[in-house]
This record gives sequence, structure tokens and C-alpha cells, in this order.
Amino acid sequence: MITLGKNPDDRICNLCLNPVNLLSEDHVPPRCTGNNGEGIYSNCFTNLPILTIPSSIYSEGISYRTICHGCNNLLGSRYDKAISKLYGTVRHSSKKLNIELKIRPNAIMRGTMGHFIAAKTTHKMSVADEIFRQCTNQPEYEIPDTIHFYVIFNPLKEIRIIRDIMMMAGTNTDNASILNIIKIDPIAMIISDKPFFGSFFMDWNCYTKIHWQKEIKIILNLTDILPQGMPENDSRFVRLLGKYAYESICATIEKRTA
Ligand SMILES: [Zn+2]
Repeated sequence: MITLGKNPDDRICNLCLNPVNLLSEDHVPPRCTGNNGEGIYSNCFTNLPILTIPSSIYSEGISYRTICHGCNNLLGSRYDKAISKLYGTVRHSSKKLNIELKIRPNAIMRGTMGHFIAAKTTHKMSVADEIFRQCTNQPEYEIPDTIHFYVIFNPLKEIRIIRDIMMMAGTNTDNASILNIIKIDPIAMIISDKPFFGSFFMDWNCYTKIHWQKEIKIILNLTDILPQGMPENDSRFVRLLGKYAYESICATIEKRTA
């Protein structure tokens, strides 16, 4: 197991911000996406060891001890089923072209935001994180237009959890996009504050206004594959790392049970 925890004096739940004696463990990516196996992990952007954990081998997935039991249960019961259905359908699809999914896109967006909040070793968050937190905690709160969400076919045996990177084309900071990325074979879920991929990949921004419990049909094209290491290693961009980007993780998947 690798469980990333917080500073011992930070006993505040990342999601509800209430003080708690005992924080609970949240798998990021969620356990239902097959984050339950073993492999080798490293820091995505530096050669430094991750936090204070000396080992580079993980088993039973990657998790964070950063949220309270109540929030963990809510995150699981409200959203993880929707994420699991998306993941399972893509993973077990034998088709190589378009697959039709009957899913709850708004719940998937909110659940992913919640897991991003859990994937930070402090409850002190950025402006973007505040939006994620609000969308997770209040499913009736409308997801703002500034949230651009991409689910992209990414059939690589790896896990990546990347927080707070800014990708900038040229030197104009107005064009900079702040990205948060989760990858687990075979999908990547990416949230950007700008329409980062243009029309190249489908932007789930069109699902921000539908009810979180509403199930709809979505076509996902499995021929649109995310190139390896993208977008975080795209050399056409200037990459700026936020304070917690240094906790971003890359992991191999050697074995998994689901
Ligand atoms: Zn909580």
C-alpha cells in the first residue's frame, strides 16, 4: 500500500473542512477503476522521494488519507458508481471505434473533482480547488462554465495523478490552462480551466448544466487516443508547476486484481 497522508497537525478534512480525529483513506484514482494492484511509483516531475515515504513499491493501489469517513462515504455513494460504469464499459469494450455509453456525466465530473480534492496533502486549496470542493459537496450547485472536462482513451499500463500544472502556449499568461489529470489504463480524466484541447477531444463542458443524477447516452471514440505523456509532457508548451504539482505521481501497473 502507498497511502499519502497529511502533515500530522493538519487534521482537517480536505472536503468538508471539519476537524477530525481520524482521517480515512480514499483511493485516487478510485478503487473501482482498478486502482488496487501493485507496481512502482515515483514523483512525476522530480527525482525527489514522494513526501516522506521511502519505498517506491506500492500494493493495493494508491490512496490518500486526507478526508473524513463521512465525506469518503458520500464521495463513494454519490459518484463512484457512475465513474465505475464509465471505466468498466471502456475497459471491457472489444470495439475499436465508437462505443455508446449510458452514463451520468455530471456525476462523473463531480466525483472526479472530489478525488482530486482528496489527492492533496493539505486542506489549504487553490481557487480552482474551491470550485471542485463546492461541486463535490453540493451536487445541486451548478458546475461553472470554467470547468472543461475530458475523458480520453489512454490504453497505457500506468497511473498518473497530476495536480496543479499550468500549460502555457507562448508567453501570454492569458492562454495558460491549469490542468489536473488522472490516468489509469485505459482512460484519462482531465480537468482544465480553459478549453485546452479545442475540438480535438470531446469537452464534457456541455454536461455541466444537466442534473447529476441524469443518465444520458454518450458516444466515446476509442480511436481518439491520448498520446503518451500528454498533455503534461507536451514540449510545445511552457509548463509551470504549482506548489502541489511536486506531489504528482506516476506509477506502473504491474499487477491488479480487477
Ligand atoms: Zn469531511
